[in-house]
Amino acid sequence: MGQETLHVKLLKHTLDPEEVIAMAARLCYANANIDELEEKVQAKDQTKFILGLLEVGHLSTIEHASFTFGVEGVSRSLLAQITRHRLASFSVQSQRYVGAYTEEEGKTFGYVVPKSIEALGQDAVREYENQMKTIQRWYNGWIEKFGGSREGANEDARFVLPNGATTKFIVTMNIRELLHFFSLRCCNRAQWEIRELATEMLRLCKEVAPVLFQGAGPACVTGPCAEGKRSCGKAAEMRKKFLEL
Ligand SMILES: Cc1cc2nc3c(=O)[nH]c(=O)nc-3n(C[C@H](O)[C@H](O)[C@H](O)COP(=O)(O)OP(=O)(O)OC[C@H]3O[C@@H](n4cnc5c(N)ncnc54)[C@H](O)[C@@H]3O)c2cc1C
Repeated sequence: MGQETLHVKLLKHTLDPEEVIAMAARLCYANANIDELEEKVQAKDQTKFILGLLEVGHLSTIEHASFTFGVEGVSRSLLAQITRHRLASFSVQSQRYVGAYTEEEGKTFGYVVPKSIEALGQDAVREYENQMKTIQRWYNGWIEKFGGSREGANEDARFVLPNGATTKFIVTMNIRELLHFFSLRCCNRAQWEIRELATEMLRLCKEVAPVLFQGAGPACVTGPCAEGKRSCGKAAEMRKKFLEL
């Protein structure tokens, strides 16, 4: 364990998401039965139609496809932020099953080193690592007092673990929620760790459904900045970054 870094993997997604969404939308407008609808959608490129749906905001149709990601090497601080997104589904590794490491092993629980600390140089990183080792000793001390590592002991010993301790989870979002999540969390105003995760999730989504995610990212990718006075002032740079992602 010790220092960990972000790892995100697109585990599964709705098969042919753009086709499914085109079918859902065509059903609303066409006087055709289901078999005809499927044939029509498969026979013709749906790019223009899908972009039209996004433009007019017919967004219930894009709820028919979802994406599931596996995420690890992220902090509990990130977990607190991402789980505020109520329309996403989560399964999170329990800290009750994370065991104690002895000092002889020289290991600690997993943690994220903030970039601001790395930017201060090696001495600062070492200081941070030593603080994590101290916390591991506190954790081990409580485990010992509770009679050794087991579910019940870990449950309360974990109260001394920091926000920087790592976690892993699986998250599923439909495309409507993903676009909303990207608009908030790919923005320069979002905290750096969740911004990195959101940007990588968007890159993976674009590989599968480039039309649906064409204009995805912070609001400034397709329109004015949503942050008003707090704008980072880098709209042109952000637009280029996300359109080329
Ligand atoms: C830069 C930044 C800073 C932040 N700082 C703070 C902070 O200091 N403190 C803090 O507490 N939070 C903070 N947040 C979290 C923020 O307030 C939201 O809780 C979080 O971004 C989830 O957004 P959401 O509610 O739009 O998304 P979701 O929960 O994913 O919901 C998606 C959309 O569904 C609709 N919706 C969902 N639930 C309801 C409901 N019950 N009623 C009506 N409509 C609903 C809304 O339209 C919503 O936008 C911050 C977020 C960002 C991006």
